[in-house]
Amino acid sequence: MVADIIINITAKQVQQTFSYTIPDGLSVRIGSRVLVPFGPRREEGIVLAVREERDSDRQYQLKPILALLSSQAGFQEEMIQTAVWISQYYLCGLADALRLFMIEKKGIIRRVYLKTGPVLPVTEEERAVAAYVDVRGKAEKKQVCRQFSADCVEEMVRQHQLDQEDYLQNQIADKMEKWLVFQSDDTTGILKRRPRQAALLAQLKQIRSAPFSYWIGKGYSRDVLLHLCQSGCATMEEKLSHTVDLTHPLEGDVPFRLTEEQQRAVDAVRNDAGGRTYVLHGVTGSGKTEVYMQLTEDVLQKGGQVLVLVPEIALTGQIVRRFIRRFGNDVVVMHSQLSKGERRNNWLRMANGESHICIGARSAVFTAVRSLGLVIVDEEHDSSYKQEEAPRYHAVEVARRRASYYGCPVLLGSATPSIADYYRTQTGQYVLLELTQRVLNRPLPSVQVVDMREELARGNRHVLSDAMTDLLQETLQQKQQAIILLNRRGFSTFVMCRKCGYVVKCDTCDVAMVYHKQQDQLRCHYCDAEKPVPLRCPECGSKYIKFFGTGTEKVEEQLREQFPHARIVRLDQDTTTRKNSGDHIIEAFRRHEYDILLGTQMVAKGHDFADVSAVGILAADSLLNLPAYWAGERTFQLLTQAAGRAGRGTIPGRVVMQTYAPEHYVIQCAERQDYAAFYAQEIQYRKELLYPPFHQILKIVITDENEKALWDTGNTLALLLQNWHTESGSDTAVIGPFVDIIKKVRNKYRIVILLKGPDLTAVKDFIRAQREFWRPGVILDVDSMG
Ligand code: ADP
Ligand code: ZN
Ligand code: ZN
Repeated sequence: MVADIIINITAKQVQQTFSYTIPDGLSVRIGSRVLVPFGPRREEGIVLAVREERDSDRQYQLKPILALLSSQAGFQEEMIQTAVWISQYYLCGLADALRLFMIEKKGIIRRVYLKTGPVLPVTEEERAVAAYVDVRGKAEKKQVCRQFSADCVEEMVRQHQLDQEDYLQNQIADKMEKWLVFQSDDTTGILKRRPRQAALLAQLKQIRSAPFSYWIGKGYSRDVLLHLCQSGCATMEEKLSHTVDLTHPLEGDVPFRLTEEQQRAVDAVRNDAGGRTYVLHGVTGSGKTEVYMQLTEDVLQKGGQVLVLVPEIALTGQIVRRFIRRFGNDVVVMHSQLSKGERRNNWLRMANGESHICIGARSAVFTAVRSLGLVIVDEEHDSSYKQEEAPRYHAVEVARRRASYYGCPVLLGSATPSIADYYRTQTGQYVLLELTQRVLNRPLPSVQVVDMREELARGNRHVLSDAMTDLLQETLQQKQQAIILLNRRGFSTFVMCRKCGYVVKCDTCDVAMVYHKQQDQLRCHYCDAEKPVPLRCPECGSKYIKFFGTGTEKVEEQLREQFPHARIVRLDQDTTTRKNSGDHIIEAFRRHEYDILLGTQMVAKGHDFADVSAVGILAADSLLNLPAYWAGERTFQLLTQAAGRAGRGTIPGRVVMQTYAPEHYVIQCAERQDYAAFYAQEIQYRKELLYPPFHQILKIVITDENEKALWDTGNTLALLLQNWHTESGSDTAVIGPFVDIIKKVRNKYRIVILLKGPDLTAVKDFIRAQREFWRPGVILDVDSMG
């Protein structure tokens, strides 16, 4: 037998497959990860097809597969199909698309060690590498390359200063744990005089199963656990360890009696025939999560699995906790702070069908599944579902591909569905489900729009309008909480010389630097570079350097001045880190340890705080002026979502929105929280200007340090496309090249070619076949939202 294999190496070209013979006794199937000889090296391969040997193979003298790499973490056929689709639709290499599905990105680990011999390191960096490796004996090559430059390490291998060896990754043993699993409480008599066991059984009955370590942590001895097993009330099972947060109480969650609207939504998806996509358009606070959970329960009853996608910020939040509370340790959570082993275990538990619910952000859409029954995407409009690095996939589209393989429905929930998805409900491609009321007849918040031009005319030069100040005052008096949104971090947003108009820009990016008062530094928000505030203008030497614009830091300072007794906390990229994604701030605010939560769009995402009755939005129009077709959509979503944080408890919510464009339709629709009116206007505009969903967009970004080479490339690519356009008579428009919104980032100039048309399949086929599009520095962004 012969296997057709794709080699797992990064390559910009769409990859070719290679054929190898399968030695007897090696159980290779589609999706297996294997070790194969490749040129002078050994590489990892992924099996795409297994077939009989053909005559054409014989002339090549096929080499045999060397070994099977990982027996468990291989691919299912569905994953391979989806990866092929991703590579074709999003124009990326197949190996890159396949890697999205892997927990271990490479099955081979390369280690380097110092060669003993006369060849000595020469340069300073080489000496440093040698010292680093020497201390460790054998060091993982990837690690060394991260510490030093990869070029230097490669050169040392070539010069035989370092030796290299490969070993297989799958030697990591799976970590197993003993679990106590509920069987029955039909044991009258047996446990009578054993109160510890009776207590244990009562708790076990509630949560069905939990690791031994959990019970021992609760004070039960190992003997008590074992005795319960002997009594037949429970069994002991070995399971892959995983990391459900069992420290939160699991008791006390019962399904709500659904409202009529919720029931209708549940019924529609429950009776799905044929794996359709449903858009659950439910106003903020209408009980979408309850719909998700009851549908999940349904799927579990039938033995199926559920993927739940949430925006990154929601991962530590309420929706996850509510799922865990209801479904206990049947839930695995995929997030960026898991260790390698934890990720692997969670992944395997889903792959084996041991767990049935997986919740995670964008990349969780690639989790292995055994029998998918439903995919749920919460806050489906959120821009974080589009990956901004290659492969530039959209998680909702990938979810739909996977679901269609299993014939299961996809549920997209939002208070502000994306224009494109809502449009598809109007054309009949998707099914629309609506929750028009908040639960328990709670009213939507009332919104007041403040025209900041009038405010200025009246002589108020503060960041906060009088209406905003009054609202905060009242809210604090009533011992309620307030949220304030400003989508710009830092203190002042730019620094300018009053005399000559010089603006301080980043040295390597073409953007103004933002003043951060806490560090007393200017910072670039594109590359994180810092520099001190100049004392004199570098251009004309004047001393009149002035700060302009307002960021969250300045608002915080003003709030503290105006409300000295309020407890204020700020949530933005500067107060959070990768490890600490802000959940401690959100949780402390939820416990009402603070009165005012202030921050960037992070404060607007899906939180459900009962004590928040006021929301203040500063600079509501800040996104509106971006030169992008989605500027209006993003603004409407942000404003509606932010407003929706108010009044989710018993006190009705109030919102003040500050703007310089009160007559703009986006602001007016957000004021009324009128999605239908907004959609009607927006879709008209998209239709007239031929933007998505009517036309698709492929954005080609070309980057280069050398401005001339940049334009040469741009013009070459544009010419190729224009010739193709003429010859094919296509209705796809070729626009550009033109300078990108930001002209230069990290010393690389950027230009753009846009392709716009009702169907881009043909032009994608053309691009795939042209080498010129696959060189470094050319970015192909299909369905671009950037
Ligand atoms: P959404 O996600 O639509 O913004 P949530 O799912 O957070 O809304 O629900 C808002 C609140 O209403 C939650 O506190 C939830 O527990 C509660 N809730 C949901 N469904 C019901 C129901 N049928 N009856 C009573 N309360 C409900
Ligand atoms: Zn000047
Ligand atoms: Zn910069």
